[in-house]
Amino acid sequence: MKYDTIIIGGGLAGLTAGATLSKSGKKVLLLERHHKPGGCATTFKRGDFIVEVGLHEFSGIMENGTVPLILDILGISEEVDFQQIPEFYGIYSDRSQFVVPHGYDNLIKALSDKYPEDAKAFRRFAKLVDGIRKEGVRLPASPLKLKLIYPLMPLMFPSLVEASKHTLGSWLDKHITNENAKLDLLGHISWWSDDPYKLSMFYFGLVFSGYMENGAHFIKGGSQTLSDALAGSMEKHGGTILLGKQAEKIITRNGKVTGVTLRDSFNKSLDPVTISCDNIVANLAPPLVPALLDEPHANALKQKISSYTRSISFFCIYLGFNTDVTKYGVKYYSNVIEAEGLKSLKDVYPNLKGDWSKRSFVLIDYGKVDAGLAPAGKSEGVVLAVDYIEDWENLNEEEYKAKKEEVAQMFLERIEKQFPGIRDAIEYYEVGTSKTIQKYTSNPGGSVFGYAPTKEQSGLNRLRDNFLIPNLYFASAWTFPGGGFEASIIAGFMVASKMNTDKIWSERDAEEYRDARIVKLTGRKENAGSSIELSFEKPKGFKHEKGQHAILTLMNPKVTKLDLPYRRLS
Ligand SMILES: Cc1cc2nc3c(=O)[nH]c(=O)nc-3n(C[C@H](O)[C@H](O)[C@H](O)COP(=O)(O)OP(=O)(O)OC[C@H]3O[C@@H](n4cnc5c(N)ncnc54)[C@H](O)[C@@H]3O)c2cc1C
Repeated sequence: MKYDTIIIGGGLAGLTAGATLSKSGKKVLLLERHHKPGGCATTFKRGDFIVEVGLHEFSGIMENGTVPLILDILGISEEVDFQQIPEFYGIYSDRSQFVVPHGYDNLIKALSDKYPEDAKAFRRFAKLVDGIRKEGVRLPASPLKLKLIYPLMPLMFPSLVEASKHTLGSWLDKHITNENAKLDLLGHISWWSDDPYKLSMFYFGLVFSGYMENGAHFIKGGSQTLSDALAGSMEKHGGTILLGKQAEKIITRNGKVTGVTLRDSFNKSLDPVTISCDNIVANLAPPLVPALLDEPHANALKQKISSYTRSISFFCIYLGFNTDVTKYGVKYYSNVIEAEGLKSLKDVYPNLKGDWSKRSFVLIDYGKVDAGLAPAGKSEGVVLAVDYIEDWENLNEEEYKAKKEEVAQMFLERIEKQFPGIRDAIEYYEVGTSKTIQKYTSNPGGSVFGYAPTKEQSGLNRLRDNFLIPNLYFASAWTFPGGGFEASIIAGFMVASKMNTDKIWSERDAEEYRDARIVKLTGRKENAGSSIELSFEKPKGFKHEKGQHAILTLMNPKVTKLDLPYRRLS
């Protein structure tokens, strides 16, 4: 039995690559170690709240935007309902309150009204970020073509050339005189990085313009809706998704990959299985791949990525409120609570790296859009701050829990101070750290954007999709074009398009992998309230005796909406 492609990891890039290759007729198998597809783009249920794990603001949802086009090609545009967020963000600081609106003209006006001395620089800023996206889309994907046009780059791609010379901080310092204006413009820095003086102007411009042009968006029902739609598209076109299956070895022979050995993630006593394939897409983080490879490939990859640094992670307090929190003064969807005493852009990094009790953070109020996460009359939010795994290392379980709670209480006190009364409206809260993100996505350090989007690791310097073994491809937030929802989907689509034209395919083998332990769903009954009864075919030889239980993993990703992956039968 052989698959054309095996995809390791069901994050957005893996799912998009899987759906695109399946649509073009390839026989694709996707392995995801978690019990639901999506990686960072997932939700989970708590009481009557659907808790969003990793989407706050989606960039690039615009007419002729690449992501809408990809969803269209995959036939799932109708399944994903993008809700436009009213404004980019509002910032509460020592300065007067400031709202960053959507739209370049609105942005220039808002900034120029407050800081007229820098009006010219704001126009220049808007022109540059707009140019970065427009030119970025036109940039040839082929390294050979890029080499050929290299001497003409300043003429053909002036914004990209200008951006490539700068970090965001260095560009702002060169053109904008008022430090307060820079702080207002960068209140949302943690959407990208912790340090404006390291953040690539190219990467920043690419994403920022994707928010400016047609506004930032949220997905009704949460990001799981998108992941499920991608998974559904892949299955509809004949692809196979195995959840709860972890790739533990990439088999290589004569300098090529030939298969994957996988193991059940939840029952390690089961024997591993090896499946052959023509080629592989690694959606899992590249730093995890050497452990799956034989020498000399493992060492070659380690060497290649040894100097790369990881992006930030997030500390999240997921919040369920028993009411709409607008009444407590929460005005915006993204409410940036800036630390007291920031005077210049140079203070941003020390603050985000510093004391928890003073760190700037964001409160997202999903209730400002038709988010479909909370029941009528209630609302959902999340507190989000930059986080580093180093802060959580060397703690035993008790110490870790206690520290998590201590830090959470600091932030809850600060939202209460900003929005008096809000604390009493909290019906549910749960805390996730970089360690939690690492645990559920396997991304080292809980990195949310793969490799840090620094000047040295972005644009043409970003890790490419195919550099180690001819038929081993990489597609994730860690690779070109970068991290985030939009970029990861584009990475998945680009890799599939490239693979389709590469010489990496052999004769088709029709046999499918069958897990003998899969049992058929025979009935589904919705009861009053929110419970659903599922009936399954009895596995061969299964005889129920008192005290025994069976663990069922639901195979159809759409069923994960129930959030009932495992239930005891007795
Ligand atoms: C809390 C949070 C907030 C965020 N907010 C935003 C936002 O507002 N806007 C935005 O654009 N981006 C945001 N992001 C970033 C964005 O979600 C990610 O950059 C993007 O979803 C990553 O996609 P990916 O394809 O790299 O895969 P990942 O999501 O990293 O998934 C990789 C998958 O591979 C699987 N895997 C790993 N190893 C194996 C193995 N050996 N075998 C099988 N499977 C394996 C993992 O289980 C995982 O599901 C946020 C992320 C987080 C965590």
